[in-house]
Amino acid sequence: MKTTVYGGAGKIGGNKILLESESRIFLDFGVDFNGKSKFFSTFLQPRRFSLVKDYILTGVLPNIEGLYIHDLSRPFADAVVISHGHIDHYGHASLIRKDIPIHLGETTKLLIQARENTKPKSPEHLIHTERQHKIHTFKTGEVFKIGDNVVHPVHVDHSIPASYGFVVETDGGVLAYSGDLRLHGPKAQMTQDFVEKCVDKKVEVLIIEGTRINDDKTTSEEKVEKMIGEIAWNAADKLVIVVAAMMDFDRLNTVLKVAETTGRIAAISVHHANVLEYLRKAGRRISVPDMEEGRLVAFLEKKRTGTYSKNDYPRWMTELLNKVPTVTEGTISRNQRKYLLVLSKAEDIITLSDIKPEKGSPFVLSTSEPHSEEQILEMDKIENWVNLLELRFYHVHSSGHASQTDLLNIIERIQPKKVIPIHTEMQELFPKLLQQKGIDAEVIFPEHGRAINLF
Ligand SMILES: [Zn+2]
Repeated sequence: MKTTVYGGAGKIGGNKILLESESRIFLDFGVDFNGKSKFFSTFLQPRRFSLVKDYILTGVLPNIEGLYIHDLSRPFADAVVISHGHIDHYGHASLIRKDIPIHLGETTKLLIQARENTKPKSPEHLIHTERQHKIHTFKTGEVFKIGDNVVHPVHVDHSIPASYGFVVETDGGVLAYSGDLRLHGPKAQMTQDFVEKCVDKKVEVLIIEGTRINDDKTTSEEKVEKMIGEIAWNAADKLVIVVAAMMDFDRLNTVLKVAETTGRIAAISVHHANVLEYLRKAGRRISVPDMEEGRLVAFLEKKRTGTYSKNDYPRWMTELLNKVPTVTEGTISRNQRKYLLVLSKAEDIITLSDIKPEKGSPFVLSTSEPHSEEQILEMDKIENWVNLLELRFYHVHSSGHASQTDLLNIIERIQPKKVIPIHTEMQELFPKLLQQKGIDAEVIFPEHGRAINLF
């Protein structure tokens, strides 16, 4: 068994990890935002008729024959297995040829649908696309085979629901891939379950994310709740504005708790409301708060004509707004102390110019690491808006990624023979830190496109 890392080697995101024996499996196939931003922007896009070619030319996609759409040679891989619904982990699976099956979590699929549903059709969509991929879904506890390899998906805690790590039993030995995970979140037990599965199966090779291997500060989700809570109490009669990523369900729940304890009505963005509607389809697996007049409502922004006319909104929004209670800018503006407004991106700050929050109203940025272009903040512009609107700026956040101590504890518990750090710009810290902690494992630095023999 060999592995070749085609994305995520020495950098954060864009994970594409090939496992190769008699069969070939890609673990994740994400968008490499860093690489992509070197050549592309809003106004400099790959050409639709030449997507894959333009991406290969610029190194955004690895040049592999038989892997992508419109490639008529023999299929290169047997399957792609996706760890979670962040674009830097699944986004370019959309460009994989459709006869290569894609495995992802049942709820991961719902989240991807929720995101793609709100966007105009694009060939870079995985599910809402004209090409029907062969999509297989899984849940924790289920097992699937790819060739002779047995894949055990196990839930982990991360900043998006339905995140998985994988234990893969192969002819040569057992390996595990962490996906993205943390031990300080509200669902830490899930990550523990993954670690225990690795111990049970005697994992020899551990491919583990190291986003925060250089960082040992940990703000827990409870701490975030406390901090935003204090800000909301101190806001007194003013409006409270919080920016939270639309897929960060834990953060949304944290903010909703603050709204409840401070007696405010939570007005969430239509994007948040859309994700909740999709998550409802997961049934008992996820407890989704009910939208309810006077407690939890969707914030209806003005669009196009600025008159709330039905024709102003795209279809997904009209359908959603028929189902959930809403509140408009005017109502929030007239009742500022009654509301906690939750925006899905900092750029939506412009909508506050109509609400006219009182001077000194708190604007709390509570987003995680950017996972998509649209989330990469234009911070200087946001700051200018904060100043223009005379708001008070706060940044309160708990990471989706495990701290240095937690990463080391995970490795110590699993006791792998080999560790391959991925999704990190600080891989050289691994050998030193493992040695300091007395963990006897060989650290192998992945190099883009170079095969590593595993067993
Ligand atoms: Zn992630």
